[in-house]
Amino acid sequence: MSKYSSILEIQSIAAGLEVGESCRKVCPLCNGGSTREKSLVVTRSRDTKASFICFRNNCSLNSGHVAVFTNDGKVLSAKSKPVSKHSSEPLLFPLSEAAINLLRVKYGLEDSMIRHSGVKLTRDQRLAFPLKGPYGRSVGLVIRKEKELYLGAREYSTIPKVWNFVRDEDMYCGSWYQQHFYKRKYSDTLVIVEDILSALRLTPYADVVALTGTNLLRPILEEIKDRKYGRVYLALDNDAIDKAFSIMRRLHNTIPNLRMLPLEQDVKNMSTENLEKILTDYGVITYAN
Ligand SMILES: [Zn+2]
Repeated sequence: MSKYSSILEIQSIAAGLEVGESCRKVCPLCNGGSTREKSLVVTRSRDTKASFICFRNNCSLNSGHVAVFTNDGKVLSAKSKPVSKHSSEPLLFPLSEAAINLLRVKYGLEDSMIRHSGVKLTRDQRLAFPLKGPYGRSVGLVIRKEKELYLGAREYSTIPKVWNFVRDEDMYCGSWYQQHFYKRKYSDTLVIVEDILSALRLTPYADVVALTGTNLLRPILEEIKDRKYGRVYLALDNDAIDKAFSIMRRLHNTIPNLRMLPLEQDVKNMSTENLEKILTDYGVITYAN
């Protein structure tokens, strides 16, 4: 199918959605590759407007907005805009030895994880993690300051601890990691965490999605349902227990196998020994596979 026909197809998909509703489909342009994965997410953000994104890296559909068919069947406009780099997106530099060391020692990340994560440094020495869509496409950055590294001109306390740079809010779908960073082989287990550091810490044990400061959004939920994980765990930080319970209540019906991991410390700050003990006790690590 041509790109133009794909856009028309997306418009008719959007017309079938309620305002605020999302759905996942096989992308009409790339057909989801050989595995026919449902990599297209269409969200009807307004009555007359919908956003779309195909998360497959090698698909040229990218993301954009389309007009939704009006009641009399007329298309208002059909424009697809490629993801463009926002002018305020910071310049990035390779990690310094000090930054690599901090990730190793403070957050327990192994060298291979650090390499695969694509983390870089900003000019003022903040960590910049790519926000990854469910199929590996980068959709933005999470920038995090660490007092051991920060070298900016502005006073440390005036800089937010974590700053999300999302190229398009409508496309935002958390940040996804396959177990061991294998691109096409999914684990049977998913852990939902808050932040990217905790997500990276867990990639040796399971697939992980980091909410990165948002509540669980519908596209994240759709992706979780679609992958049919055997086990799904919620491992939010200790200070987010109210949020964890509210997510548990909301997802009780859609993801009946969802369990909560009781954590006394944030995943990113736990010793490997404690982390593996909890993961084993709750069946995240099974040793069967
Ligand atoms: Zn596609």
